[in-house]
Amino acid sequence: MCARCGCPVYVKGISDENIPKENRIKGIVHHKQYLNNDNIYDENITLNESNLEGICIDCHNQEHFKKQMAIRNGLTFDSKGNLIKK
Ligand SMILES: [Zn+2]
Ligand SMILES: [Zn+2]
Repeated sequence: MCARCGCPVYVKGISDENIPKENRIKGIVHHKQYLNNDNIYDENITLNESNLEGICIDCHNQEHFKKQMAIRNGLTFDSKGNLIKK
């Protein structure tokens, strides 16, 4: 299950293979502390369970889109999650 929205996610080798492909929501392990060139080989960060969060691809996109791309492009989100210019 996604740790944020609670939707059931599909993880290869773990999840029920009977779930039809079109209903599968990909699960992703998100690093709460984002990985970068400095910490990518630091196991205290890459493999530390307290730094990992199992979420669905939608929540993952939102997380990264909100914090990185939006800021980079001079965009931000309003309270409803709509993309707006800053
Ligand atoms: Zn989710
Ligand atoms: Zn992530």
